[in-house]
Amino acid sequence: MKAVLLAEKADAYLRELCLHIPGRSVGSKGNQAATDFFANAVAPFGFETESPMFECIEWASDGVSLEAGSASFEAFASPYSLGCRISAPLVVVSTVGELETAEVAGRIILLRGDIAKEQLMPKNFPFYNPDSHKRIIQLLEAKKPSAIIAATSRDPEMVGALYPFPLIEDGDFDIPSVYMTEEEGVRLAACSGGETSLESKASRIPARACNVIASKGIASKGSNLSRRVVLFAHIDAKHGTPGALDNASGVVVLLLLARLLENYSGTLGVEIVALNGEDYYSSPGEQQYLAINAGRFAEIALGVNLDGVGYRLGDTAYSMYDCPPAIADTIHALFSKREGMVEGQPWYQGDHGLFLMNQTPALALTSERLAELLAEVIHTPQDSIDMVNTTKLVEVAVALRDLVMLLDR
Ligand SMILES: [Zn+2]
Repeated sequence: MKAVLLAEKADAYLRELCLHIPGRSVGSKGNQAATDFFANAVAPFGFETESPMFECIEWASDGVSLEAGSASFEAFASPYSLGCRISAPLVVVSTVGELETAEVAGRIILLRGDIAKEQLMPKNFPFYNPDSHKRIIQLLEAKKPSAIIAATSRDPEMVGALYPFPLIEDGDFDIPSVYMTEEEGVRLAACSGGETSLESKASRIPARACNVIASKGIASKGSNLSRRVVLFAHIDAKHGTPGALDNASGVVVLLLLARLLENYSGTLGVEIVALNGEDYYSSPGEQQYLAINAGRFAEIALGVNLDGVGYRLGDTAYSMYDCPPAIADTIHALFSKREGMVEGQPWYQGDHGLFLMNQTPALALTSERLAELLAEVIHTPQDSIDMVNTTKLVEVAVALRDLVMLLDR
């Protein structure tokens, strides 16, 4: 298929995922529409598809009102938080030491400064959870404030370009919480000790969602013949963002690749996976994939993750993890001479972590200017299709098709 036709397809896929489907946060109608779209789009190219379901929550918010003294303040409900309607005295806390000694039971607590500098990992997040975060969560649960207000600054590594960012984003944490800018935090801190009224209209709705696993050429699951290459792109997006680079573009590459592999008949199995949960607090799709493949990661010759590819500026960056020399040489030989591809720094905040934790060779593809994207675009409404150059998505899909063919030899 000519590159120009593939670019047209890429454009149509991208528009479907980012414009026609209204939001792809896990558990939402748009998320279900996106996984249905993916499954229906790969099937005609001879892939067998499975869409294993999991339970999750959809979350809805209808605004926050916050008053202290005679002033009102702007705040936002923390994603997945419960709602509340509370009047109580305000306690201000800036460090873990202060939290250890503060009397906060039944009060509204404002967390700002040092204690609020990093987004706290969700309680049940399976892959990474530092003790310093766990300590703050444990203290809050033990001390039982009636609600939490967090004044936050910037944390691009963990939350992208979002400012302010929600300190807590956790459907398993049951103290209602909201967040605000540092500047609002300074104003509110001046009301310390005073009666404060907080109403957050937020609710958790039980929902279901699925991964989509499309496979071809996997002779017999569980046998030695199921040696395969696995290619991931997460299909979910954060609330409130079209998620074009994060990560509709990666999903589009998988759809183009499925098309390019229509006539593939190799002995190396190919598994193309729309993972559902990279941007959700408990990574449910990732956990499901781990459970389905428990004890079977040794069958995976190479795991490939696509996240943040196709930014209109800069090249596509590839990075390798635990690749044996034969595979690393193949990848280098193929990619290093391609126009538009460069070897980039390793990075670890992506779904290739699933391969790494299972000692499986991995390849990750993103944009060379990932740091800039994280600081300015990712997880904001700016992450729109204007950011994406679909020609680059075609280049990546063709490069991956060529890689699959070489690995099959
Ligand atoms: Zn993301």
